[in-house]
Amino acid sequence: MSLIPVLPLYLQLNREYFQNSLLEKGVPRVSVRWSDGRMRTTAGMYKTKTNFFGVKTSEIILSKPVLEFLPKKALMSTLCHEMIHAWVDLVLKVDESHGSNFQKRMAEINSFQSDFQVTVRHSFPLTKKIPKWVATCPSCKRRFPYRRIVKGAACRNCCNDFFGGRWDKKCLLIYKPFSSVCSNYF
Ligand SMILES: [Zn+2]
Ligand SMILES: [Zn+2]
Repeated sequence: MSLIPVLPLYLQLNREYFQNSLLEKGVPRVSVRWSDGRMRTTAGMYKTKTNFFGVKTSEIILSKPVLEFLPKKALMSTLCHEMIHAWVDLVLKVDESHGSNFQKRMAEINSFQSDFQVTVRHSFPLTKKIPKWVATCPSCKRRFPYRRIVKGAACRNCCNDFFGGRWDKKCLLIYKPFSSVCSNYF
């Protein structure tokens, strides 16, 4: 999934599950945006700020590194989770995290539809995360994602093709940080 605009999804969820209560005079009561590449430990976040004049603003931030490579339903589930926080805070004006109001609304939304499931978790399994390293074969130039450096790992294809399946140092993989190889992801 690429980084799709999130405002239309906010408006859709607001209409379908929040009776338009997260819209005021046609303006979203919360601003919604994608994070930069650094928000890696949580999928989404609801934040409020009160300025010098006592004016409160709220925003929902969706994690680009966590959600970018997951199916759209992970985005819907995360956005909906954060919108429940916004609804509890701005509409009910109750100070709670994943309390009874949150849980009740979450259960209702989950029973209304089967496209996505809202959970109290903010994170997704680590296996879906971006690899830390990219190993390149000096011979065939193929690239392999690695979570950590494996010493002495060689390109299996080239060992098979040129060395009768035996390990040879000419096929040793060269490791580079994923972020330096694929900088457009960050
Ligand atoms: Zn939460
Ligand atoms: Zn190779």
